[in-house]
Amino acid sequence: MAKRIQFSRTGSPEVLELIEVEPSSPGTGEVRVRNRAVGLNFIDIYFRTGLYPAPSLPSGLGTEGAGIVDAVGEGVSHLQPGDRVAYAQGPLGAYAEYHTLPADKVVVLPDGIEFETAAGCMLKGLTVQYLLRQTYPLEGGETILFHAAAGGVGSIACQWARELGVKLIGTVSSREKAELAEKNGAWATIDYTKEDVVERVRELTHGEMCDVVYDSVGKDTWETSLDCLKKRGLMVSFGNASGPVENVNIGILNQKGSLYVTRPSLNGYADTRERLEMMCNDLFGVLESGKVKIDIGQRYPLAEAAKAQEALAGRKTTGSTILIP
Ligand code: NDP
Repeated sequence: MAKRIQFSRTGSPEVLELIEVEPSSPGTGEVRVRNRAVGLNFIDIYFRTGLYPAPSLPSGLGTEGAGIVDAVGEGVSHLQPGDRVAYAQGPLGAYAEYHTLPADKVVVLPDGIEFETAAGCMLKGLTVQYLLRQTYPLEGGETILFHAAAGGVGSIACQWARELGVKLIGTVSSREKAELAEKNGAWATIDYTKEDVVERVRELTHGEMCDVVYDSVGKDTWETSLDCLKKRGLMVSFGNASGPVENVNIGILNQKGSLYVTRPSLNGYADTRERLEMMCNDLFGVLESGKVKIDIGQRYPLAEAAKAQEALAGRKTTGSTILIP
């Protein structure tokens, strides 16, 4: 028997329960991974609360982890038992000692990348890969605004932007978070609890404003974010930490300067094996070169997944958070 977190109804963190199950055998095209570290992500909270519907209930939770291949189904040629692997996509259920998922979502880890590092960056780091390298192919010299700059995704974005020669202005909610983001390479930070974000961006950019705004906060920051853009700038709305952006009048993009807007997701970018491998090569490259380091800010035992989610939703975490099965 093996431990697994599941939920039978959506709601507050208490709906998460720790159960014991027989690990499922991998079917055709699947592998079973014995998790050594599991990634905690804001998207897990969206599934728990029902903002994103789980395909069925009861449901497992989590899509990011790293560990060792423990069993392989028929028709799988690129993986074998004993391989060190990581994943960030596939069915919900990574919050578990064993996770069975399609083999084409699983990649072999380079020897130099530890399980905790991988679990702390597969979903978040691949997200930063597509945000900075594909959604808007930054070349260096641009100025961008990145919300939640001391968080999991944000900490990786600060470092990667510095490496690309991009001026990243990060928003944060405390001085400690500002220091962390700056240590990670943010060019400047704005504490939105004390400062007016638009005015501060205007000052910092001498009125030029930003080429791109990366907004994972959603409802609370939508309009502020648009106001931080240059004419014809790009608004990348990629999360809903404060709730989803709804009822948008598209005319606002005209009023605020012929702006562009996109609402991307990792599954929309890593949608083929070839694209997943290309993105992983890029991510593993910046990790192995030391240009990006994964800061594991918090570790919780798997059984304390609810507590970990409370901390993440309560803005109490920095960097990546992992669950240890
Ligand atoms: P973070 O570690 O960044 O935690 C969220 C942070 O958001 C908080 O620490 C807090 O930072 C900030 N925040 C602002 N407003 C709120 C609010 N009302 N409630 C809670 N937090 C708030 O989380 P992740 O790194 O896991 O994810 C970051 C974001 O990226 C999430 O919105 C997530 O959904 C999104 N995402 C999107 C993906 C995609 O492909 N579309 C993939 C991966 C993540 P502060 O205190 O400094 O304000």
